[in-house]
Amino acid sequence: MIRKFLKPFRSMSITTFLTDIVIFAFAAVILVLSALSLNRTNLIDEKVKNAQRYLSELSDKVILNAYLANKEDASIGKEMNLMADSYDGRILLIDSNLNCVNDTFNVEVGKTFVSTDVVRALNGTSGEYRDDETQMVEIYYPIISKSNSGENGLNGVIIFSFSVASEYEVSDRLGKSLLLIVIPCAVLLLLIATFHSRYVSKPLVTMTKSLNHISEGYFDDKLEIKSFTELEDMADAVNNMLFRLNSLENSRQEFVSNVSHELKTPLTSIKILADSLVQQPDAPPAVYQEFLGDINAEIDRENRIITDLLELVKLDRKNGEMHIAMVSVNELLEILMKRIKPIAQTYNVDLIYESYRKVDAEVDEVKMSLAISNLVENAVKYNKEGGWVKVTLDSDHKYFIVTVSDSGIGIPESSVKHIFDRFYRVDKMRARKTGGTGLGLSITKSVILMHNGQLRVESTEGEGTTFTVKVPLSFVEKQNTE
Ligand code: ADP
Repeated sequence: MIRKFLKPFRSMSITTFLTDIVIFAFAAVILVLSALSLNRTNLIDEKVKNAQRYLSELSDKVILNAYLANKEDASIGKEMNLMADSYDGRILLIDSNLNCVNDTFNVEVGKTFVSTDVVRALNGTSGEYRDDETQMVEIYYPIISKSNSGENGLNGVIIFSFSVASEYEVSDRLGKSLLLIVIPCAVLLLLIATFHSRYVSKPLVTMTKSLNHISEGYFDDKLEIKSFTELEDMADAVNNMLFRLNSLENSRQEFVSNVSHELKTPLTSIKILADSLVQQPDAPPAVYQEFLGDINAEIDRENRIITDLLELVKLDRKNGEMHIAMVSVNELLEILMKRIKPIAQTYNVDLIYESYRKVDAEVDEVKMSLAISNLVENAVKYNKEGGWVKVTLDSDHKYFIVTVSDSGIGIPESSVKHIFDRFYRVDKMRARKTGGTGLGLSITKSVILMHNGQLRVESTEGEGTTFTVKVPLSFVEKQNTE
């Protein structure tokens, strides 16, 4: 419910718009208020300074005429009245006995005037008070004359209180005229905020539209964003991802069509063989025997393809489990050689195994055995009558290295870069005879890569081939960054 209510505020354009308004309004209010306050303070300062100047002159005159003692000079009283009127205020003269000698309001004359500020001023400390509420200023001005002995002699205090209402009025008027400027500024601000919020959110809206379009099936389309660099980088990242997804989809389609083709070939052969048997009901048993033998071989082939495919699917699975353990690679190879020996004998190929040192490594034993088996079996299968296959094992402080060399038919230079592709076979006819599915080397490569290893091949057509496997002795799990 609250989420629904807050939905508009989760919109980037609305949030940007509101943020702009709040920031600008806040800044404008602070600016106007401080300008007004500064202006008022300046006006009052000016008035207070003039008053102080006048008080200094008055103090001099009072001292000169010893006015506090004899009140003889009537001009001082007149001048005080004039000044008080012009300031819309009141002036009081207090002598050192705290008696009021003169009051422009004629109320306090003759009365004793006791207040801390008067006493402080009598001690030589002037005072000044500004009251915002009453809009009044009050100044306590000490009248100091030099005594004959040269020390400061205190004669009295002038209290001058006056109104600063007119200064407040001036600054209020200024506030009102500023308000007139604020209104067009606010309209301008609304326009700027609207434009800004659109400008910020527009690339995202465009991006969403493009992505929706792409997800409708236009995978070859690209995101074209001309905006903030961050968004351009994001669009580049999305384009890269789309490119990868696209090539994955292409290779998936290619793989599916290859699989269908490969699986169909033995079935077609079986169908042809079975059809020809059906059409010859009186065929001699020897023919039946031969055709059924062929059908049997095709079923075996179909079986091999399916087994290899399942193996590949297992390896391809991202979370394909690795059962890593410390394994004696020497033992692993010895067992493997023992198993392949009979096959090598049927091909009349000599199988040699050389280990230069004892090697223990962290590997998935089953997968690693399958990978190297494929290499050794290939070396036997694609060999010459009376040829040899040599397997060596060595290691350094970081890797173990297995080489599988043969004296076989070799691989043509143009084919070398394809032999790790799925279903790739150099000579399809020979592969059929040897039972090759074209998946063995893909499986080997996947396994070696899963162990963070490297697989290299060197081959000379007609002379032989050497595969080199280099795998880290310690297994380090790859971080999944995808
Ligand atoms: P296959 O099941 O056909 O053996 P592989 O993926 O194991 O499939 O090998 C792919 C192709 O590479 C083979 O068909 C063969 O032509 C070629 N090949 C692999 N190993 C050797 C080798 N040791 N000597 C010559 N050719 C080889």
